[in-house]
Parts: sequence; C-alpha cells; structure tokens
Amino acid sequence: MKLAKKIIIALILGGLTGLAINILFPDIFPSIDQYVFTPIGKIFLSMINMLVVPIVFFSITLGTAGLGDPKKLGRIGIKTISFFLITTALAITIALALAIVFEPGKVGDFNLTSINYESKEAPPISDTLLNIIPTNPVKAFTEGNMLQIITFSIFVGFGLAMLGSKTKGLLKIIEQGNDLMMYLVNLVMKFAPYGTFGLIASAVGSQGFGAIKAMGLYMSIVLLALLVHTIFVYGSAVALLAKKNPWWFFKGFAPAMSVAFSTSSSSATLPLSMATAQKNLKIPKSISSFVQPLGATINMDGTAIMQGVATIFIAQVFSVELTFTQLITVVLTAVLASVGTAGVPGVGLIMLAMVLNSVNLPVEGIALIIGIDRLLDMTRTAVNSTGDAACALIVAESEAKNEKAEKDLKTAG
Ligand code: ASP
Repeated sequence: MKLAKKIIIALILGGLTGLAINILFPDIFPSIDQYVFTPIGKIFLSMINMLVVPIVFFSITLGTAGLGDPKKLGRIGIKTISFFLITTALAITIALALAIVFEPGKVGDFNLTSINYESKEAPPISDTLLNIIPTNPVKAFTEGNMLQIITFSIFVGFGLAMLGSKTKGLLKIIEQGNDLMMYLVNLVMKFAPYGTFGLIASAVGSQGFGAIKAMGLYMSIVLLALLVHTIFVYGSAVALLAKKNPWWFFKGFAPAMSVAFSTSSSSATLPLSMATAQKNLKIPKSISSFVQPLGATINMDGTAIMQGVATIFIAQVFSVELTFTQLITVVLTAVLASVGTAGVPGVGLIMLAMVLNSVNLPVEGIALIIGIDRLLDMTRTAVNSTGDAACALIVAESEAKNEKAEKDLKTAG
C-alpha cells in the first residue's frame, strides 16, 4: 500500500480511536495517552524535527547555488514574496467577511466574568524582520532560527555559485548532504502512519466536547474560511497561473497535508512537504528548496484566517463595533502577525494578541478560544503548508515559461 494511503488511514483510525476512548472510557484516557499515544507521536515528531535544520541549510544552499544567476534569485524572490503577501491578505479578507456575515460571537452565551487569560507577550514583528541576518550562524543553527538559517544559506549558496570551480568540492559535499537528508526523510516517513495515529488519537481524545459545542459556530466559520481559501484561492491560482489541474495538485500534495494536519507544525512538515512537491508535483529542487522553507516560516494563510475570524468573534462577544479603518488595520496586522508566527503548534494564537492590541480589543478574549484551538490548529497548518506548495508550483511554472521564452529568443537570434 502506498504511504499516502497508509497515513490517511492512520489519521482516520487515530481520530476514531481517540474519540471512542474519550466518549466510552474518559477515565482511562489520560493513562493510555501518556503511555501509548503521546510517546508514539513524540518519537515521530522528534525524528522529523531532527531533520529540519540540516534540510533547510543543505537544500537552500544548493538551490541558491543552482540558480546561479543573482537576477534569477531576485526574480524568484519577488514572485514568491508577492504571492505570499497577496494570498495572505485574501485569506484574512475571506475570514473577516465570513465572520461579519455569520456573527459567531453573537450566538451563544459566553461567560465573560470568569475568563482569565494571562497574555503572553507577542514578540514585536520588527524584531523578527530586523533579525534575519544572523550575527552568529552557529547560534542560529542551535536555536533553530529558521529565517536566520535561510539568510545564511542564501549567502553561502550565492558564494558557491560565484566561486564556481574553486569551491566545487564543497558544493559536492552539500549535494551529498542533501541526498543524505532526503534519504533520511524517506526512512523516517516509514514511521509516519504510526506517528500520525498517536498524534491524532492524543489530540482528539483530549478534547472537551462540551467546549466544542459551545464554540461550534466560531469553529465552523474558521473551517469554512479555510475551505473557501483553499479551493478558490489556491485552486484558481493553480489553474490560472500554473495552468495545472487543481485536483491533481491537491491529490499529489495530500500526504504532506495529512502530516501537517497531524503534527500542527509547518516546520516539522517541511521535510515531507518538500519531498512531496518535488516528487509528486515535479517542482524543480532549486525552486522548491527556496520557496517552501521560506513559506513554512513566513507564509501562514491558515493562521491569518484564524486570526481574522477570532478578532471579529472577540469584538462581537465584547460588543465592540469595528470601523472600516479598524478592519483595514486588522488585515495589515494579521498579515504581519502571520509572518511572525513560527511554524510550530499554537503560536498563531499567541500572535493573535498583536492583532487584538492593534484595534484595542481585550486580549483576554483569547481565553474563549484557547480550549478548542488544537483542532483548528491542525486544519490551518495543513492550509499553511498547501499555500507554500501552491506558490512553489506557480513560481516553477512561470520560471519554466521565462526560460523557454529566453531560449526561443536565442534560437531566433
Ligand atoms: N501551527 C501553525 C503552523 O505550524 C502555526 C499556528 O497557526 O499556530 O503552521
């Protein structure tokens, strides 16, 4: 059986098992979770996380060196960042529109007197952007600071391209390092179905279903916005810009989506999402290695959607009417907040504080959604990873077109 099928079956079985134990034997769930589900999930998560830093370094260095021409790198960079920003802004707009129409914060009884949320300080976004150049690359590596590792790798790759035959040996080593990492990804992925089972059983089993019922409308709006964004924005971008069948795209990327769903971490999914994009979607290594790690760090459309719906929800619960200018502020800060969100579970909710602050909404409102955020985190992470793959596909197709045009021009000349 194909790995993708196994992962999806594990996902369903894990969900059903967690749900059954949650409902039938709620008392014994904590022990089963502690000794069975969580350890299995943790082993898998640790194994893939182990590969993220070396993969990002090897593949971006190799990708940049492979692009060679700094002009090409600049062009790909501009296309990538533009796609990221435009799709994220669209994502929030869809989220705001649906939340304004369906008013999830006006239905139901939310007990505001008992809420107690100690807001964690959302790191200022300027820090993230200003700190992308590492003063000490070794520190960036040990801390797993993705943006800094990406910057360093681009510098190294660029240097290798410029020095050409002088650094041929080093380039070869990086090539082999990359091959080795890809081999290890495939090896670790053999464990994916078990890991997925453990992670999902644990996540579903520990949900309080009472809370889910109370927050049903909010959850449905977030899920609806995620679905609309995925189908319409990514689907039409793939069809119109890359001229590919959206169904082929979603089907090909499904294994990575299901791992993103079970891990709730775009960063942990990165090794698999790159491998899947290169193998199933035939995206050239040099482009996938550049676009996807960058996307896993700064492009979070799913997160932006949650932040948009959550902001409107909290405004409605606290009976605050947001003006049009405030809505625009929400769009802008949610773009930044999602850029600043790290690709690990739950961070999107911490960064939500930044959006709420920008329009003077009470951060305590986060307490209302924190209990049910785990399930939404899983879904939005799948969307986050899909957005990066869609971008890589579109950039790859447009680069292929560019190259063909250049070739035609040369032969004509
Ligand atoms: N878990 C998300 C991700 O890794 C980030 C978030 O929204 O919390 O993409």
